[in-house]
Amino acid sequence: MVIAFDIGGSKIAAARVGADLAAVEIGRLPTPIHDYGAFCAAIGKLAGPGDEPIGISIAGVVDPRDGRLTVANIPCADGRPLAADLEARLKRRVRVLNDAKAFALAEAAVGLGKGHAAVFAAIIGTGIGGAFVLNGRLVMGSTGSAGEWGHGPAAANRTGVSLPIVRCGCGRPGCVDTIGGARGLERLHKHLSGLEADSPAILAAWQAGEPAAVRTLDAYLDVVSGALANAVNILDPDIVPIGGGLARNPALIAAIDAEVRARALGMRGSALCVPTETGPEKGLVGAALHVMETAQP
Ligand SMILES: [Zn+2]
Repeated sequence: MVIAFDIGGSKIAAARVGADLAAVEIGRLPTPIHDYGAFCAAIGKLAGPGDEPIGISIAGVVDPRDGRLTVANIPCADGRPLAADLEARLKRRVRVLNDAKAFALAEAAVGLGKGHAAVFAAIIGTGIGGAFVLNGRLVMGSTGSAGEWGHGPAAANRTGVSLPIVRCGCGRPGCVDTIGGARGLERLHKHLSGLEADSPAILAAWQAGEPAAVRTLDAYLDVVSGALANAVNILDPDIVPIGGGLARNPALIAAIDAEVRARALGMRGSALCVPTETGPEKGLVGAALHVMETAQP
């Protein structure tokens, strides 16, 4: 049994997860984002007494070398070695994992990746994320960034349109993330058409055949599918489950899938990029799986 947590900038959800990988929720609390002591205390309160190990999925990056977090929307935990701090405080084993990695582990075990050896799970939401699971084990890489397909240069090779070049959250100019996420789609639409609209409105206009939105989506699909095809060529996954806000539009993911399969080297007869749900359940199961896999030699 693992006590699993899914932690975002607004709430902390906790569940018990056993060997059957069913998450039984045990409580939720608002996330204390400015007081690290209160943040750790909230986790301890939800975990309760006992010695079950704790697994945490969090919307931040964990440096595998020193366990320190980079987490923009929970400032009090930014730069902290959260697992070590909680272990000292709660006297039990704690593992902390980036939420995209938790999503990938859960997809591979109980989601669309079940039964597949190579699962590359992608997030297309506010930003772009991803992680690779091979034979049920998360591939961490040397610095924990394996699978982060959103932080290479964006290119529009098929359409040849000029792209807006802005600095990404990672500090580099012109990343795929600055075009491929929901804010990126809005930025691209403004750049190409001069029109301001939110991503749901742009997608609705695209599906209605409105010319400016059709042009924007053509460039968007060029950039995102090109980057995703690069990742597919490197990893050669059996399936690419895609979660995040934009994955709630099945027509968009179907269009991405068609272009990725056309651009990837390996031939595939059935859908590779398939939309799925993210959400707390996946974070909880993935966090628990991470504790279970790191308990093995
Ligand atoms: Zn970047």
